[in-house]
Amino acid sequence: MPTGNPSPGPLPPLPDDWQRALAVVAHPDDLEYGAAAAIAEWTDAGRDIRYLLVTRGEAGIDGLPPGDCAVVREAEQRAAAAHVGVRTVEFLDGHRDGVIEPSPALRRDLAAAVRRHRPELLITLNHRDTWAGTHWNTPDHRIVGRAVLDSAADAGNRWIFPELASEGLAPWSGVRWTAVAGSPRPTHAAEVDTGIPRAVASLAAHTTYLRALAPTEDPHTHARTTLNRTLTTATEHHGRPAVLFELFAH
Ligand SMILES: [Zn+2]
Repeated sequence: MPTGNPSPGPLPPLPDDWQRALAVVAHPDDLEYGAAAAIAEWTDAGRDIRYLLVTRGEAGIDGLPPGDCAVVREAEQRAAAAHVGVRTVEFLDGHRDGVIEPSPALRRDLAAAVRRHRPELLITLNHRDTWAGTHWNTPDHRIVGRAVLDSAADAGNRWIFPELASEGLAPWSGVRWTAVAGSPRPTHAAEVDTGIPRAVASLAAHTTYLRALAPTEDPHTHARTTLNRTLTTATEHHGRPAVLFELFAH
């Protein structure tokens, strides 16, 4: 769970000459702690954004066994996506929350998804060891973030996973960038305004998860407080709320 962004000074805007993005993260809620505010404004502008979740976050609620938790969190993630205009939400099978492995199987699944959706932009969550400061990141985020960065090249290579072509998934070399949210080394800023209340609704849609996290707090209040802190801290330099990304070129 990202907890705030640094304030590194003025950052340039993200490139805007793209139409389709695929956001790939480890868990339900990974996109809702900031990135969703930018995603809401991008879908409002007519861009096509799709979500791929590597797990259903089934190990995320202490009092709920994984089998039950997976069902709840998948439904909450679909509701969260709908609040920001994302209609396509897919979940991988075969990767377990908390112990996602940095394996050829994960790379193959992500390469297949990139070929299926053919995005120009990939979006993911912090792949680095820490959040801002010294807050230690989790293995799932590090592993998935790095695998997403690798998937741009994997999707374009005919020979790394040759079985994908025989499944009807032709190579796709059209990914131009990966934007990493929550990175301690942001390079670009997406200023947000109208997307903020929709991002709050999107985070609040993780009702069961938030009630477990903060039992005494109303989920919507928790979401609004958290996002106001995260998005405002991001841009003291602009005086406007923003989502910060570390952008990689492919
Ligand atoms: Zn997560």
